[in-house]
Amino acid sequence: MYKAKAYSAASATSPLASDTIEQRDLTEQDVQIEILFCGICHSDLHAVRNEWSNTVYPIVPGHEIVGRVTQVGSAVTQFKPGDLAGVGCLVDSDGTCQACKADLEQFCPNLTYTYNSPDKHLGGVTYGGYSDSIVVHQRFVLRVPSNLDLAGVAPLLCAGITTYSPLHHHGVTKGKKVGVVGLGGLGHMGVKFAHALGAHVVVFTTSPNKKEDALRLGADEVVVSRNTDEMQKHTGSFDFILDTVSANHDINAYLNLLRPDGNLTLVGAPPKPLEIAAFSLIMGRHSLSGSNIGGIAETQEMLDFCGEHNITADVEVIPIQKVNEAYDRLLKSDVKYRFSIDMASLKSE
Ligand code: NAP
Ligand code: ZN
Repeated sequence: MYKAKAYSAASATSPLASDTIEQRDLTEQDVQIEILFCGICHSDLHAVRNEWSNTVYPIVPGHEIVGRVTQVGSAVTQFKPGDLAGVGCLVDSDGTCQACKADLEQFCPNLTYTYNSPDKHLGGVTYGGYSDSIVVHQRFVLRVPSNLDLAGVAPLLCAGITTYSPLHHHGVTKGKKVGVVGLGGLGHMGVKFAHALGAHVVVFTTSPNKKEDALRLGADEVVVSRNTDEMQKHTGSFDFILDTVSANHDINAYLNLLRPDGNLTLVGAPPKPLEIAAFSLIMGRHSLSGSNIGGIAETQEMLDFCGEHNITADVEVIPIQKVNEAYDRLLKSDVKYRFSIDMASLKSE
C-alpha cells in the first residue's frame, strides 16, 4: 500500500477537505495513474450528500479522470509509463457474466464503481479521482487521443459516454429530431454529440441565459421550458429526447412532445421518484427508458470519436480548494458547462 493525497467528505453534511488515503500496490494487471484533471459530475454531489442513501464515509468522489501512467504491472500490455490514460465510472467487473461478455460491464452484477463500491483489494470502499493517484485494472483504463485538451477530456469519461451511448442505442442520425433536457455537464455533451450525428437538436432549459451558448454548442432551437406556449409548439414531434435533469421535474411535459413510437431516455438521476401519467405513454405508444454510462469498449469508441471530431467538454478549470464552492454553484445550474479540477493544486495541501 502507498499513500495518496485526496479530498474526502466525512459525512453528508461535511465539506470536502484535504485527506490522505491508501491505494494498493500494483498487481500484475494494474496500471498506476498520476491524476492530472478530474471532472465534477452531479453524481459526485448526490453521493457526497448521501442523496441516494448508499454512501459509505469517508467518500472520495470523482469518476472523470484523466492522467499519465506512472507504473504498470508485469502483465500489462496496452500501457507504459508516460502514456495518457483515462478512467471513468467503473474500475472492475467479473468479466464472465452475460453483461460483461456483451461489452456492457456497466450492468455486471459484480461491478466495482470507481468510488463508494466495496474494494476487493483493500477492504472498505473504493476511492475516486479527487486524488493525485489511482490504481486500476488494465481492462478499465482508456486510451486518450493526444490532440485534445486534457481538462476538457476528463468529463468525457462520464458525461461524454453517458450521452453518447443512448444516442447511438436509439439510432440518432441525420434527419431525426432530438431533444436534450437540461444544459449542464451531461446536457451540453448530448448537444455536441447529437449535432455531430447530424440530428436536428432542440435544447430545453430552465435558464434563459444559456440560450446563446446552446446555439453555439450545436442546438438548432432552444426552448425555455417554463414557457408553456413554446413547449406546446413541439407537441408530438420528437423522435428521441434525452433527459439529463438532476432534480425533480415534470417528465410528462416532455413525454407529450414525442411523436408516435418516440422514446424518452432518462440519464438524470433525481433522488425522488418521478410521477408518470399513464396517458403520457399510452397516447402515441411512447416509451420511457433509462441508460447507465456505457461499457468500456463503447467508452473507447466515444473517446476515439472525440479525437476525430475534436470534441471536448466546455470546462471551467478550478483548483481543488474551490470544490465546495463549485458544488454550491452546480446546485444553482451555474456552471459552463463542467468543472474540471486541476489536480496540480493538490500538491500544496
Ligand atoms: P448538472 O451539470 O448539474 O446539470 C443538470 C442540469 O439540469 C442543470 O444544468 C439544469 O439545466 C437542469 N436542472 C437542474 N435543476 C433543475 C430543475 N429543478 N428543474 C429542471 N431542470 C433542472 O448535472 P450533470 O452532471 O449533467 O448530471 C445530471 C444528472 O445525471 C444527475 O442526476 C447525475 O447524477 C446524473 N448522471 C447519470 C449518469 C448515468 O449514467 N445515467 C451519469 C452521470 C450523471 P438548465 O439550466 O439548462 O435548466
Ligand atoms: Zn458522472
